[in-house]
Amino acid sequence: MAYDPNNIFAKILRGEIPCQKIDEDDHTLSFADIHPQAPVHILVIPKGAYVDWADFAANASAEEIHAFTKAISRVAELSGISETGYRVISNIGANSHQEVPHLHMHVLGGAPVGPLVMTMA
Ligand code: 5GP
Repeated sequence: MAYDPNNIFAKILRGEIPCQKIDEDDHTLSFADIHPQAPVHILVIPKGAYVDWADFAANASAEEIHAFTKAISRVAELSGISETGYRVISNIGANSHQEVPHLHMHVLGGAPVGPLVMTMA
């Protein structure tokens, strides 16, 4: 899938729409999810134009991958959920119901977050 520069996270990165920022560095931005699914629900995104994890793994620089990996645990520390535990999820494509076509990690915690996935029928 080609990257759509008009997706909502691209607009957040350009400052065209606001976000509740948690953390930022040269390669990443982290902000609160607008519809939280847990007491703490943060989205960590790369600043580069990557559709999803597969695109990022194939095309991002080592520096971008390093920064992204570090940002995920850093926001957990900043949010106070490191000790109690949290879940990191990335949806990729149709079967996962990825809504926003810009790579993002969901960082969820602050309370037990339930089973990993819907069980198969
Ligand atoms: P996905 O289904 O693509 O993995 O998750 C997209 C996430 O982005 C959803 O959890 C949704 O609540 C969040 N989201 C969608 N639009 C906005 C927005 O404008 N601002 C913020 N902060 N989060 C958003």
